[in-house]
Amino acid sequence: MSHSYGWRLENSYADLPEYLFSRINPTPVSEPQLLLFNNDLANSLGIDLPTDDKKMLAQLFSGNQLPKDTSPIAQAYAGHQFGHFSILGDGRAHLVGEQITPDNKRFDIQLKGSGPTPYSRNGDGRAALAPMLREYLISEAMHALKIPTTRSLALVLSGESVMRSSLLDGAILTRVASSHIRVGTFEYANFTKGFEGLKILADYSIARHYPKLVQQENPYLDFLKAVVERQAKLVAAWMHIGFIHGVMNTDNMTISGETIDYGPCAFMDIFSMGKVFSSIDSHGRYSYGSQAHVAQWNLVKLADSLLPLLHKESGRAVKLAEEAIDSYSKIFNQAWITGMRCKLGLFGEEVEDFSLAQKFLDWMQTSKADYTRTFRDLTQENMPENKAYKSPAFQKWYMEWKERLLRNSKPLNLSLCLMRDSNPVIIPNNYYVEEVLLAGEGGDIEPFMALLEALRNPFEETLSNEIYRNPNKKMNSDYKTFCGT
Ligand code: AMP
Ligand code: MG
Repeated sequence: MSHSYGWRLENSYADLPEYLFSRINPTPVSEPQLLLFNNDLANSLGIDLPTDDKKMLAQLFSGNQLPKDTSPIAQAYAGHQFGHFSILGDGRAHLVGEQITPDNKRFDIQLKGSGPTPYSRNGDGRAALAPMLREYLISEAMHALKIPTTRSLALVLSGESVMRSSLLDGAILTRVASSHIRVGTFEYANFTKGFEGLKILADYSIARHYPKLVQQENPYLDFLKAVVERQAKLVAAWMHIGFIHGVMNTDNMTISGETIDYGPCAFMDIFSMGKVFSSIDSHGRYSYGSQAHVAQWNLVKLADSLLPLLHKESGRAVKLAEEAIDSYSKIFNQAWITGMRCKLGLFGEEVEDFSLAQKFLDWMQTSKADYTRTFRDLTQENMPENKAYKSPAFQKWYMEWKERLLRNSKPLNLSLCLMRDSNPVIIPNNYYVEEVLLAGEGGDIEPFMALLEALRNPFEETLSNEIYRNPNKKMNSDYKTFCGT
């Protein structure tokens, strides 16, 4: 264990059988330069580094000079990518260790873009600057939006170029996660080692993420149910803020219930259930409105992999898995309507709340309304002057909503408070995200820092977020996002 600078690093994953990972060091880079360091996150992890020693931090977070006594690994996993099974693994990431925080929580410290591994296939093991800036920004924004997510601790320019469609600056991101165990890790364990492999991984995952289940009669079934619950709640939370993950393959779905892998993700501006931003998602498999269903599809893959552990009779195992998967829709719907009630300021439960929320979304879709802005406008005592809000269709819905508010069990000012806590003023708007990434690529990180700062406080109208609230700043409707490796 390493103790200097507050590091308390273990690597419990490396005690698992070796087919689950490979020991491999990052490949050093020539001239690392620190671009971003997340001091608040470092503090919460109990890491106490000399923040003014940028050279030292650059050496550390490039993987050139790792904390003492660490033995990095790359994890093996598989995954269904757009429905097709592949063997994958960390092709450009190194798990440096698991930091034990002052309150005894365990977090993976992972470098991404830190060089090739045995799982790199044809890749170079590296990452380009813009996609790493994007992951840093969006993951931190998600955290501030109260969505479970991996975090970003540091970003270092490697000083080397990476070849993509053109030569780009290389970068290394330090990602923090409660673990990197994915649905695809279970698919891999089952595929390569069957029952034994699966049991070891499941026992480890339960002890790490769901320790209360260890004592249960059938901890594996309860583990499946617990992951179903966390994922159903996670995707409902994405829906509430208009987040589109973009590449919901089973290797990009954690068993901890944290959002992971910010590739072609984006926040919706103009509301549309079928919205897709990702350039590689030509069939809309991972569109906004498909996410709930796709998450369930992925959980079926987890259930399939876990079958041998659920019951020794295969017929019985399938029945148990089906029950767990069937619970998904109910949990998702409940989480969805609970969040929608908060967004609409509704206290108490009425069956018609579903259709009230749905009618509002339908109106937004027909009127091509901005998702974030429209919800936030409801938090004002009177709707702003705006042609769309004067339309008979909107007025009809608005009256219905006002009548529902009158039946609330609590006064109107509490509704407004609830709505202001549930409807962000700003999200990482595509226009500004593109603008600050472009500046960052050009060597100016200041616009990125300003947006990051504004996104730290998304539920309040502040001076720092004022400029990002301009509703006219939008990308064209044909705006596409890229996996951007
Ligand atoms: P992702 O799309 O980031 O979820 O990555 C899917 C798989 O491709 C993972 O196994 C990654 O490690 C691997 N991968 C992505 N980019 C690279 C790269 N530049 N070099 C090696 N492996 C990569
Ligand atoms: Mg991935």
